[in-house]
Amino acid sequence: MLEAKSEPLRRRYDNVSPEIQELDRVGISAQSHKLLNQLLKENLKLDEIMTNSDNEVEALVGVENWVLGILKESPQALEFYNNEKGGRKTFESLIWRDYASIRLLDYIQNAGREFEDLNLRGEIAVTNPIKMIWLAVRYGTGGAKPYFFEDMIQLFRQLSGKSQIRLPSKNQLEWWMDRWPSGLDPRMVLLREENRERILNIIIDRMDRGELSSNRFKFDGDMSREQKFERALEWWDDHHFHLGFAVRTPDLLNEMLGNSLDPDTMKILYSAEKAGIPFFINPYNLSLVQVRVPYFAVGADQAIRDYMIYSKNLVEEFGNLVAWEKEDQVEPGKPNAAGWLLPTHNNIHRRYPEVAILIPDTVGRACGGLCASCQRMYDFQSGHLNFDLEKLKPKETWAEKLEQLMAYYENDSQLRDILITGGDALMSSDSSLEKIFDAIYRMAVRKKEANKSRGEGEKFAELLRVRLGTRIPVYIPQRITDDLIRILAEFKSKASEAGVQQFVVQTHFVSPMEVTLESQEAVRKLILAGWKVTNQDVLTASGSRRGHTAKLRQALNEIGVLSYYTFSVKGYMENQNNFATNARAVQEQMEEKMFGIVPEKFYSQLRRFPIEAEKMVGNIQELLKEADLPFLSTDRNVLNLPGVGKSLTFRVIGITRYGRRILEFDHDATRFHSPIINTIGKVVIIESKSISEFLQHLEGMGEDVSEYESIWGYSLGETEPRMPIYEYPDYDFQVTDEITNLVLD
Ligand code: SF4
Repeated sequence: MLEAKSEPLRRRYDNVSPEIQELDRVGISAQSHKLLNQLLKENLKLDEIMTNSDNEVEALVGVENWVLGILKESPQALEFYNNEKGGRKTFESLIWRDYASIRLLDYIQNAGREFEDLNLRGEIAVTNPIKMIWLAVRYGTGGAKPYFFEDMIQLFRQLSGKSQIRLPSKNQLEWWMDRWPSGLDPRMVLLREENRERILNIIIDRMDRGELSSNRFKFDGDMSREQKFERALEWWDDHHFHLGFAVRTPDLLNEMLGNSLDPDTMKILYSAEKAGIPFFINPYNLSLVQVRVPYFAVGADQAIRDYMIYSKNLVEEFGNLVAWEKEDQVEPGKPNAAGWLLPTHNNIHRRYPEVAILIPDTVGRACGGLCASCQRMYDFQSGHLNFDLEKLKPKETWAEKLEQLMAYYENDSQLRDILITGGDALMSSDSSLEKIFDAIYRMAVRKKEANKSRGEGEKFAELLRVRLGTRIPVYIPQRITDDLIRILAEFKSKASEAGVQQFVVQTHFVSPMEVTLESQEAVRKLILAGWKVTNQDVLTASGSRRGHTAKLRQALNEIGVLSYYTFSVKGYMENQNNFATNARAVQEQMEEKMFGIVPEKFYSQLRRFPIEAEKMVGNIQELLKEADLPFLSTDRNVLNLPGVGKSLTFRVIGITRYGRRILEFDHDATRFHSPIINTIGKVVIIESKSISEFLQHLEGMGEDVSEYESIWGYSLGETEPRMPIYEYPDYDFQVTDEITNLVLD
């Protein structure tokens, strides 16, 4: 079987395109030579194979036979490699050396494969690492960069057993976590008050000078400075103030941050402004960034900064961004990339049979800020989403369109879950939300009613879950008003009668420093309205520092939020700055998150959580205590893949000359997919950063990179199982097997 797999990829190095031949003639640098010598010195067997091979095919065969001999000592790993056995259990049984054997054999199987590298605007990337080593040994060519050789040295150390894995202890993890205070830390609360004072004083000064004004927020003519400040403090609790006074220029941003941004950063921000990237940073959000860095929180706000301050790469790429989520490009009447027919261009996104995302034509198309690595940067390029909140207010035609969209859910055989997002679901006004909820309620009733005339096995899925996708609890928690809570509670009570059982606010915290008294209050109210609050984190480079994500889970649990997903950063070179490699995602999962895994004996307790949403804080604390866990690892680490949804089931199958890894992803086998995945097959992603570059980035943030050493070895992933709280409830009838609105071309 192995032999059969090997054959088609064997090529002589002169049997490739002229472009590749040209690259093969590129000489390697002195630094690469040095690293190559180290590689050969540490691996005499490799040296022997390379020296004795007359061409790269012989080199490939030599390494393959050698590594295959090693892999055969581990029958379970051999089966995994041959795809005869998979799944989480087998993955967890692999030993450290198996990862290296499998990666090397995958490198050989895929030798010579070419890929369009969207990080480099479609340039062709080819993987053939053994050939590159052979060319370097034989001719001093091949063009491989030092980052490539660094990765290869680590790979052969893992194979030879020279590098071993040492899992961190719980104490070590807690030490890492302690470095990141949450925003609830009383010392941080005081510092944020200081920030608020600075920001409000700047706003008052600017209003006094006539440089800032608002129809809604005005001072009385005879007010003293103290009175103005008192008034401005009252405004702080009103979300309209934060929307109205959001910063829209780099200069004001810098001024609000006490002119603390360095000239290089300002240069980038000016270029961003010139390139047309919008700025929209509200005063509350700004107050989360430290200007005066206290000893106990060095670097603690970096993940917030990296979401707010644009990177050089983003600015350089803006204008040439390529959409990551191909299935979000919709043309009515034609199937999207996942095979679904959708009713309008811009209102429904769909990947899976059971759920479709609703994007209303309301202010909900905007967000309370603009996250630097947001996939919607692609849309911002066309300039039509530029935080013009007035323009986004719903038009008269929206009511009619909403009914058309509801008809889509009603007449679909499998849809049972509606995720309202945007932008941000809670940017919509209360009245817009009420109208949407009313339409959903009526649709749910009609769908249920229609099922009465359908026989067993022919019934359509009825609505079970309603979700709101929002970062408002982070961006502007003041938006969670008593009126909004009343609307949410009323909808829950009405929709429950129509069979909806799960009401979820799906939010997006990326830093424990975003967990503040204000966001705690917002979440408390949401929970009180009977809505479960879950979190989707994005594992940015700064968010991936040791213990950061673990601390985020803990801080969220403290206020009653459950982690749902930890996403790898999507996108290409524009997000290189924020990108943490998928190896880091697996490392975080295996070495930090594992301390919060809930034992199965507590699953029945966990299942009660959504039913008793109002008691979430108490229930979480009770479970943490009983199970003796520092936090609840209820989330799954995944990457959102174009077309086939979320997964962290991958193997590193190649590497570019620049040392950037090439990953082949499979879909998440634990969930119900569009049947199109059988034709799409696997998805190949070329990472925008090598492991060396990622470690340098961490070092630049003050991290001790020796604490990350095992990252080199995590070249495989297997998607974790979904926690029981995130399952759909069962129906007391059988849903039809028919899948409507699907075209498989
Ligand atoms: S909240 Fe979500 S949709 Fe809005 S800017 Fe951030 S990542 Fe993008």
